Amino acid sequence: MSENFAAFLYLVSGVLFILALRGLSHPTTSRQGNLYGMVGMGIAILTTLLLAGPSFGGLVLIVLGIAIGGGVGAVTAKRIAMTAMPQLVAAFHSLVGMAAVMVAAAALYAPEAIGIGTVGDIHAQALVEMSIGVAIGAVTFTGSVIAFLKLDGRMSGKPIMLPQRHLINIALGVALIALVVAFAITQSHVLFWLIVIVALVLGVLLIVPIGGADMPVVVSMLNSYSGWAAAGIGFTLQNLALIITGALVGSSGAILSYIMCKGMNRSFISVILGGFGGESGPAGADDLGDRTVKQGSAEDAAYLMKNAGRVIIVPGYGMAVAQAQHALREMVDKLKDEGVEVKYAIHPVAGRMPGHMNVLLAEANVPYDDVFELEDINSEFAQTDVAFVIGANDVTNPSARDDKASPIYGMPILNVDQAKTCLFIKRSLASGYAGIDNTLFYKDNTMMLFSDAKKMVEDIVKALAD
Ligand code: NDP
Repeated sequence: MSENFAAFLYLVSGVLFILALRGLSHPTTSRQGNLYGMVGMGIAILTTLLLAGPSFGGLVLIVLGIAIGGGVGAVTAKRIAMTAMPQLVAAFHSLVGMAAVMVAAAALYAPEAIGIGTVGDIHAQALVEMSIGVAIGAVTFTGSVIAFLKLDGRMSGKPIMLPQRHLINIALGVALIALVVAFAITQSHVLFWLIVIVALVLGVLLIVPIGGADMPVVVSMLNSYSGWAAAGIGFTLQNLALIITGALVGSSGAILSYIMCKGMNRSFISVILGGFGGESGPAGADDLGDRTVKQGSAEDAAYLMKNAGRVIIVPGYGMAVAQAQHALREMVDKLKDEGVEVKYAIHPVAGRMPGHMNVLLAEANVPYDDVFELEDINSEFAQTDVAFVIGANDVTNPSARDDKASPIYGMPILNVDQAKTCLFIKRSLASGYAGIDNTLFYKDNTMMLFSDAKKMVEDIVKALAD
């Protein structure tokens, strides 16, 4: 295949990737977006294979690699629970980081194979690209492993604050730049591996101080890093598709991080500097002090909602854990039959990944027109009879709005406390992901419905039928 034709095919796959990103930005077009992405990737892989024209042995290795990697990926994707998706994404990013390191090492030891010079005499430009790619790749690798361990609960979600951590990180950053320059001049293999080691350590140190509540931003930031690592390696390999894909992943990850920071009212810099959010145990009945909690039953909830004019549903992580979306849809259908106006309000970071709630509601065939983003619906709570919070917690916590001392102060919340009555389904008074007590539980207009979300909604459906 001629280089020109290959470049054209890479351009086609690049356009398909852009269409994929566009499609993925809305639930109605996301399937089509995924399809574009798959076709684009298929074209990119085939073009690379045809362009390289590998020997029979090489081809067997490639097919074996695709079969093993693709097989593991397919089985994992099928088995993974939706709630575990963020840690899966983090784990996958770590592989992208590691792949960038491996490809750079291969280029260092066999530069003639990709036409960037010979061992000890690699072109200067390739050396710089290679060393930057390998440094970002190694940071992405260990950073993503730590993010995976934290999100999967195998490591505490609490920020781990080393003394003088900013100084240590700056020193490591400076050392990394010095090593990249020295490596570009000397081509020393020892320096190459030193870059890898320093970047691996930096990846760990950058992520351990980041607390649970900032993890969504970190995952998308690492996503962005993995894209830039791939783009860097794309330059080394002179592979257009890798450069385009890497740049798309890098920039879309950066934009997503920005959107999430806005959603949580956090500055990107303060996320990177870390130290926000953590874990705290459930508040037991003994911890209440003089605060009281009003508790209700499925029958109370059914009565209140049946007689309401307007109800807004606020889903959160607990709905995903309980898989209560289908029962919820049934409940809403019944309420609509009774003439109640029902809408869904989605917070940008509800659940454990952006779009988590939208996907679950779509799975239960909730009409898209009933689902509203925070900024489009927040003003309506004040004219709403019942806010029905199902497994959400942090995204409704009024201290984010009212308490300057709260660690989540400034994060936009859904103003469920402004509704006439706020029904709250969760199993206990335990805190949410940010580890912060929710003052809403103790308000006069709040009624707690202590139960597993699915069980409670099913009971409400029964009570509505009576
Ligand atoms: P939260 O994590 O604040 O709260 C979820 C609540 O669900 C818990 O308090 C828990 O209370 C309850 N719950 C758990 N299981 C069940 C169940 N089976 N039935 C009923 N309730 C249940 O969730 P939110 O959606 O309100 O907020 C999301 C949080 O996650 C934010 O802090 C956000 O920053 C963070 N985050 C978001 C990501 C994203 O991209 N969306 C990614 C990573 C983190 P109890 O134990 O008492 O039942």
